[in-house]
Amino acid sequence: MINYNDLKIIPVINACGTVTRLGGAPLRQEALDAYHQASLESVAIEELQTAVSAQLSAWTGAEAGIITSGAAAALTLGAAAILAGNDPAKMECLPHTEDMPHEFIVSRDHRSGYDHAVRASGARLKEVGLNEVVSGAGVRRTEPWEYEAAITSITAGILYVHTNSSAPSLADVIAIGTKHQIPVLVDAAGELPPPSNLAHLVASGAAVVAFSGGKAIGGPQATGLLLGQQQFIGSALLQMLDMDDHPQLWEPTLLDPEDFNGMPRHGIGRGFKVSKESIMALMSALDSFLHEDNSARMAELASTLSDIQARLSEAGIESHLNWPNQEATPRLNVVSSNAFEDCATLRNGNPRVFVGHGLLDQGLLILNAIALLEHQIDDLCNALISTIGKPA
Ligand SMILES: *Cc1c(COP(=O)(O)O)cnc(C)c1O
Repeated sequence: MINYNDLKIIPVINACGTVTRLGGAPLRQEALDAYHQASLESVAIEELQTAVSAQLSAWTGAEAGIITSGAAAALTLGAAAILAGNDPAKMECLPHTEDMPHEFIVSRDHRSGYDHAVRASGARLKEVGLNEVVSGAGVRRTEPWEYEAAITSITAGILYVHTNSSAPSLADVIAIGTKHQIPVLVDAAGELPPPSNLAHLVASGAAVVAFSGGKAIGGPQATGLLLGQQQFIGSALLQMLDMDDHPQLWEPTLLDPEDFNGMPRHGIGRGFKVSKESIMALMSALDSFLHEDNSARMAELASTLSDIQARLSEAGIESHLNWPNQEATPRLNVVSSNAFEDCATLRNGNPRVFVGHGLLDQGLLILNAIALLEHQIDDLCNALISTIGKPA
């Protein structure tokens, strides 16, 4: 067996959360066990994804659901499903979409680097709205009528990025989509916890919703979920599956064979394949995530951060616990007068420590305990104190 040490890789203390750049969340033990168990036998992947779909329905109320290789892959597949539907010729064309409706309407303030995953399907984003709050020019953000006014004959869908502060509301945007029969694709990659968001966002009436499997769920880092209406989930699955079989032997799962005029070839998502091991590991992690006491888990993280806060305070370092509600992930904002330099020093120290870097320009290092291991807490405190500490 090769370990990190053999490759001269120094593991880091992850105090910034389930970020992809650091490999996501620690894998839950039951996910690891399921991964190993799944590796011992062969299964038909489409049968497995179909059975997964039924279980995801039972857990979330979605008509259907599949496991993808991440939320970003789920966004590409969800967009591809909205673009191509059940048409093998359109599936074959993607990402070339000149000859089909291909615009996805998106609020300007929902744009981010992650929407590259939507554009990778061949979708073109059509931006609407102005965020006068951020530009400092006024009090208004994107409004529902602006989505409606942008709908034309080449509109394929609406992209909505869900956060606690997204505007306009998802319900308002879905109402417009429903009125004009335009499916809504929701990026909810980071919207867990709370676990209730799975069912809540599915019930919104969105066509499809994408979640990460490797963030708070604690599944393998390269997994995600696409949940939603069966017609779109079925199309997304087809565009991800390996299609090397005879048409005479082919039975599309999740979709009615009657709806197809031919058997699609490998689709745009063929490169996003998910292993049976990853599928079973994520299902096991999700089972735990949905059935554990989330507020107790969050309280434990908050208690870890309070302990760290007390240690820092003794060393004269100021910090503030940011825990908006008991279902949300708590964070500790540590005050630093030299935040960029301290962040770099911590990354390159011994041990190496990574802290949240979202508020460095405000002089804050953000600590999130979700990926922190018990035995790392002392080292973390010592590193913080020696890097930013000044005698009180
Ligand atoms: C993390 C994230 C993604 C990507 O999720 P992966 O599971 O890493 O592919 C997409 N969108 C948003 C808003 C995210 O936070």
